[in-house]
Amino acid sequence: VNETKTALITGANKGIGFAIAQGLGALGYTVAVGARDDVRRKEAVERLEAAGVKAFGVALDVTSDESVAAAAKAVEQTAGRLDVLVNNAGIAGPIAEGAQDPTTLDLEVLRAVLDTNVFGVVRVTNAMLPLLRQADSPRIVNLSSNMGSLTLQTGPILAAYAPSKSMLNSITAVYARQFADTNLIVNAACPGYVATDFNGHHGVRTPEEGAATAIRLATLPDDGPRGGFFDDEGIVPW
Ligand code: NDP
Repeated sequence: VNETKTALITGANKGIGFAIAQGLGALGYTVAVGARDDVRRKEAVERLEAAGVKAFGVALDVTSDESVAAAAKAVEQTAGRLDVLVNNAGIAGPIAEGAQDPTTLDLEVLRAVLDTNVFGVVRVTNAMLPLLRQADSPRIVNLSSNMGSLTLQTGPILAAYAPSKSMLNSITAVYARQFADTNLIVNAACPGYVATDFNGHHGVRTPEEGAATAIRLATLPDDGPRGGFFDDEGIVPW
């Protein structure tokens, strides 16, 4: 029996995903670095290993059925099971002024954002479920945003991105209900406004700060909260 827990993070080659990989690695998890680009994935694995983290790369484009199926096989061959899945990969879509005005929204933009931020999460989650079910206390964390909060309605108007995260929150809730009688715990995390390529580094928090809630949710005890939406302050309203 492999005593070391394995965590797969999608989009782990940079930004918040890389910081989550580093944080879970520091806690002793073996990190499966999910990334679509071969060079960026290899460099990320090397940086993690240089920091003393046990890591291996997993080729993973969340928008591709074939890539995700192959990724599940690769994780199975290397680790045999999955203890943690962090659905972190995400895109904002075009963020120039007016590019996501709902009244003029290009449906291809909406489709592309949903394909990564929503369909990608369902695709990856369902492909990894058989491996998660092999773990004693599996955890799934979905990287959401307070821009997806229907209560808060924060940030600029981004008519593709914000609804994608609202739907991701809803998906988090339905998975949590589905797994209510099991040891599999699913939650959504808001990282706050983090300086990454995602926002041209305009964010005010570090990737490490943005990773903290996701890491906490990935390492919850068996009696931890389920089907919730959290940031550093606690519960984020839906
Ligand atoms: P980055 O743009 O820095 O990183 C995004 C990561 O997702 C990259 O590794 C990117 O890979 C990967 N990715 C994108 N599309 C795909 C795909 N189809 N398949 C596989 N990987 C993909 O963003 P952040 O680190 O800032 O964001 C991470 C998550 O946090 C996102 O879900 C985002 O919505 C969320 N978030 C971020 C906030 C912020 O302030 N930064 C605020 C709230 C939420 P590649 O390098 O190949 O492009």
